[in-house]
Amino acid sequence: MSDDDVLSGTEPTAVLIINPWESLCGRCGVPVLLSATHHTDESGVGPPEGCGARFTETGTEYANITIERLRQLRPDLPVVGGGVV
Ligand SMILES: [Zn+2]
Repeated sequence: MSDDDVLSGTEPTAVLIINPWESLCGRCGVPVLLSATHHTDESGVGPPEGCGARFTETGTEYANITIERLRQLRPDLPVVGGGVV
């Protein structure tokens, strides 16, 4: 999170993209843990710290992952319209 985000009181948000073999931050495209609530968790891939976005929805790039599956994987988050981003 940048200083600007803190000062303005706005928090960047992102879609948690859940693909068959990995999950990604929809804001910066870096792999993240499926269980991440914010993109600050280290995944071992890409930069050591994420972009800081809070995941507010789930989606996928693959139509063979159903909305039901997305809900199953992250019951705490709504699925982005249609499921596919
Ligand atoms: Zn990110």
